[in-house]
Amino acid sequence: MIDKETRIKIAIQKSGRLTDHSLDLLQRCGLKYTRARDQLICFGENMPLDILLVRDDDIPALVRDDVCDLGFVGLNIVEETRLGSGEDNDSETEHFSVLRRMDYGHCRLSFGYPEDGPVQSASQLNGRRIATSYPNIVNDYLKRESVDAEVVEFSGAVEIAPSLGRADVICDLVSTGTTMAAHKIREGETLLESEAVILQTPVALPAGKQQWIDRLMQRIDGVMQVRESKYIMMHAPKSALARISELLPGSEAPTVLPLEGLDDIVAVHVVCRETVFWETLENLKGAGASSVLVVPVEKMLA
Ligand code: ATP
Ligand code: ZN
Repeated sequence: MIDKETRIKIAIQKSGRLTDHSLDLLQRCGLKYTRARDQLICFGENMPLDILLVRDDDIPALVRDDVCDLGFVGLNIVEETRLGSGEDNDSETEHFSVLRRMDYGHCRLSFGYPEDGPVQSASQLNGRRIATSYPNIVNDYLKRESVDAEVVEFSGAVEIAPSLGRADVICDLVSTGTTMAAHKIREGETLLESEAVILQTPVALPAGKQQWIDRLMQRIDGVMQVRESKYIMMHAPKSALARISELLPGSEAPTVLPLEGLDDIVAVHVVCRETVFWETLENLKGAGASSVLVVPVEKMLA
């Protein structure tokens, strides 16, 4: 039995596109876990935290109904559930508090027009049939745009609806666009840009639990920051320091250290929070730097 008072319950997708990223993120935050024999729960060994593995569509309701304290799920599912529960304003409501947007699960919900079909833009949707797994989001869009079209709900394989004669247009998730292209469907207007988010229950939590959640969020911020971050070390003439600072993307004030026996050359150490390209290194060299070393950052606590 899981102790609800003290242990945090996190819902993540059981198996699908978000599963590995979500588990990896928690592991990078230091969590060690064992998976129960039924494969549905992972018990945290070194944190008061357990993971429930469920279908992604169920995650927003599990968090809203306080079965789980946190949920890692696509914003597309959050929006679809939110609109389905009759909350048709734009703000995130008290039922879904989105704690973080994360840097994985990127996709967009877009219209798709069969290349040889009668509809080629959203302005031609009146009187047409739209196949989608996101009826609430599509209906919300149609309402806002005062378009009179029929929404045909498909639970999967939406892209085959036009060739089955079930719809004129589709509205589906796209990341690379290859699925639509393979079905001779052209991607049109985007209704929603999505990525994985962390949802928190609307119910106030005991202080100890909330403290662990705050701690986890701080670690998640650290993990997300170090993804692109690099530690750069180099030697440089003192006179080039200003130019070198300008060249380093997303960096804070550099640490400047004297070098034994050298007066005008110093060692410069700096953390860059953005991708460091070869071009940046070449420019540093051009500005007078030498012995430039770039190393990955493993952990960071702001
Ligand atoms: P489940 O069995 O949990 O219901 P599913 O088939 O609904 O799984 P997946 O296909 O694994 O879900 O997608 C999970 C989430 O990944 C989506 O809800 C979306 O947020 C994100 N995603 C990212 N890129 C894509 C894409 N190209 N197509 C579909 N989903 C994507
Ligand atoms: Zn799903």
